Amino acid sequence: MKFNYYMPVHMHFEQDAVKKYKEELLKIGTKALIVTGKHSSKKNGSLDDVIQVLNDVKIEYTIFDKVEENPSLETIEKAAAIGLQNKVDFVIGIGGGSPMDASKAIAIFIKNPNINKDNVFSSGKLTHIPVVAVATTSGTGSEVTPYSIVTVNAQKTKKNLGQKVYPEIAFLDSKYTYDLPYNITVSTAVDAFTHLVEGYLNSNSTVMTDIYGEKGFELFAECFDNLIKKDLNKEFRDKVMFASALGGIQISQNGTSLPHGMGYPLTYFKGLPHGFANGVLTVEYLKTFKNTEKLNRMLSILKLKDLSELKQIFDKLFTVHIDVTEEEIVEYSKAIFSNKGKLKNHPEQLEYQEIENIYRNSFK
Ligand code: NAP
Ligand code: ZN
Repeated sequence: MKFNYYMPVHMHFEQDAVKKYKEELLKIGTKALIVTGKHSSKKNGSLDDVIQVLNDVKIEYTIFDKVEENPSLETIEKAAAIGLQNKVDFVIGIGGGSPMDASKAIAIFIKNPNINKDNVFSSGKLTHIPVVAVATTSGTGSEVTPYSIVTVNAQKTKKNLGQKVYPEIAFLDSKYTYDLPYNITVSTAVDAFTHLVEGYLNSNSTVMTDIYGEKGFELFAECFDNLIKKDLNKEFRDKVMFASALGGIQISQNGTSLPHGMGYPLTYFKGLPHGFANGVLTVEYLKTFKNTEKLNRMLSILKLKDLSELKQIFDKLFTVHIDVTEEEIVEYSKAIFSNKGKLKNHPEQLEYQEIENIYRNSFK
């Protein structure tokens, strides 16, 4: 047996966690840059909770509330400039993966004022000011991962910033997700599920990370029922938030694999939400596995007979309406086939033609 495991995030998974553990913020810094999206954190109570506790513990703050979905390096530069002007010494990301990922990148840009969108990928390992994450979707697991996925317009793609920024503290309070609309609940849950799948069926998986994957599949065996029945009760919200965090912990160790890499152009060029971009490719991806032992274990924990039953669940949950031309399939396939980072996480040898077929068959 052999594994390396490092997960340095202090997680508080609890109702009213932000208020209960407010004193911990005093150990992080003295002036915060709150980084959030345009609307949702103002409606779901997360922004109010954070502002209230910062006032309570007398930590000053500045708010940047303009993070868009799939945050761009341009937005990150703007927010970092505001952080620098205000001399903040930590960042609090509130929202889904977009604000949380943006907050990690902003923490790097603030710590290294010479870094900008043009040199960030060629600057070697960079340090950062501390980050606190408040999750308001149950999907990305970004609150526990070191990744920051950013939109790089110069390269017409989304990619991992390539730095490691683990939040110091992750607040997981599912009450912020109670009013998450059904379609976002589904797309983010599908994202969490694909993290579990890609982290589990992964060249880097270990006996340690499999524990997270298998617990996550056990939870999804129930969560899929809730999603299909649109029974989004509080117990479900807790369960899917937990499953999402488990997926995050798993990919923090193993990374994601091909569906994530293959999904980025579907988001960049076709505007498909991140979870659906991975989800639409997942079944065809899983069909390429030659050694099905672990895949079958996953299906059995999910209480599914075979991949066609997983496909039926996905068909009930979402339909993807985008046109992908033959030329685009070739273009996207070539891009992923040259992405060594993603390919090496896939545990089997995969031929180029199989990648084209995953795209082609997923959009039949
Ligand atoms: P998101 O892009 O953060 O948010 C999607 C939408 O949901 C936004 O319109 C947002 O509104 C809204 N929203 C968020 N929380 C809400 C709530 N509680 N109630 C109502 N609406 C809410 O979605 P996401 O799927 O969580 O994040 C996707 C991003 O994370 C992608 O860029 C993806 O590549 C990245 N990602 C990162 C990791 C990682 O490990 N770091 C892993 C997977 C994916 P507002 O804009 O108004 O907030
Ligand atoms: Zn994802």
